[in-house]
Amino acid sequence: MRLWPRRHRHDPLVCREFVELVTDYLDGALPESERRRFEAHLAQCDGCDGYLEDTRRLVTTLQATPPPPADPATREALLSAFRELRGES
Ligand SMILES: [Zn+2]
Repeated sequence: MRLWPRRHRHDPLVCREFVELVTDYLDGALPESERRRFEAHLAQCDGCDGYLEDTRRLVTTLQATPPPPADPATREALLSAFRELRGES
């Protein structure tokens, strides 16, 4: 007998998923059910809370730079910083 039956879509969000969903969340592109899981994780995970804030700041920086930086090195630096935040370095 299992006290906590595992139904996949309803499992608590893990940090790995959080990282994958964070940009969609900031875009407002998450479906309601995913958004609830996302916010539930956010409420109980300080690491992801900070990660969300970092990503939000970075996205704001990227969006607040019209037109795209003329200097390719600057753009590359931002993109690699973003990849690093996402743990894809
Ligand atoms: Zn987390």
